[in-house]
Amino acid sequence: MSAKLLDGKGISKEIQKETKVKVEQFIADHGESPVLAAVLVGDDPASQVYVRNKERACARAGIESQLHRLPATSTTEDILAKVVELNEDSQVNGILVQLPLPDQADSRVILDAIDPQKDVDAFHPHNVGLISQGRPQFLPCTPHGIVQMLKRCGIETTGKSVCVIGRSDIVGKPMAMMLGQKDSDLGPEMANATVTLCHSRTQNLASITQQADILIAAIGRPNFVTPDMIKPGAVVVDVGINRTEQGLVGDVDFDSGKEVAGFITPVPGGVGPLTVTMLLENTLMAAIIQIKSIA
Ligand code: NAD
Repeated sequence: MSAKLLDGKGISKEIQKETKVKVEQFIADHGESPVLAAVLVGDDPASQVYVRNKERACARAGIESQLHRLPATSTTEDILAKVVELNEDSQVNGILVQLPLPDQADSRVILDAIDPQKDVDAFHPHNVGLISQGRPQFLPCTPHGIVQMLKRCGIETTGKSVCVIGRSDIVGKPMAMMLGQKDSDLGPEMANATVTLCHSRTQNLASITQQADILIAAIGRPNFVTPDMIKPGAVVVDVGINRTEQGLVGDVDFDSGKEVAGFITPVPGGVGPLTVTMLLENTLMAAIIQIKSIA
């Protein structure tokens, strides 16, 4: 058997076209573009690439982007000062602090300082709390992109057995929370899953993953998920981005995994483009929320 590809790249283009139309309408209504401000600390090469991709995607959608560079030696206080400045700048609708930050900076303190109405990554405890209660203001970009992709590929989650491997605050935990809710912004068919959240201390991992109708891997270990861990015909979503000597690979052994799965995302070209795309949606949403709160 060879799995059908879940074309995250193609779906991203489709969503970005829709976002562009909504941004044009926003500009027509309010006379200004939504503005996303990115804070980039230091010169980590991967972070530079991510930020550049986000800037390009903003430009395509008609969203204005600002890049605020700080030196690698910046302290928590230095970065906080920039966040406070952006919080107070009424021209800025969305703020993202590119992670990881240098070791001397306290990411938690910095992310907690972002105005929840400008928190387009949805990492602030206020937004995480709203997600856990099933009434999100913003959804975190990667899990949101995954739900969008599944919906647009006709894959419902209601009643399905979903296994998420990885419990990060950025991907695994919010993904599990969202799919276990009663409803979603795309309807109840894209929620209501029976979710198992696995992590580094999970015992007999394969015996759990083998039961999953939908398997989502967000681990950060190249080719970790092998075919014996996949239920035949399952939907396999690979969030992992691992730089190896063979190039970028996911957390799933793609070549052998696709022989067992029913659907599978490639790496690259799967979940990655969706993450950037949902950041654009969140920036537009932030601009709309802020206009409403002024009115
Ligand atoms: P993380 O690095 O913060 O955490 C990894 C998680 O994997 C932990 O919760 C840990 O418990 C779990 N884990 C580690 N070893 C395990 C094992 N042997 N068995 C079971 N679980 C294990 O995770 P993250 O920030 O969510 O990143 C995960 C991967 O996803 C990375 O490769 C990252 O680059 C990638 N990522 C991709 C996107 C995207 O847009 N495609 C977005 C975010 C992260």
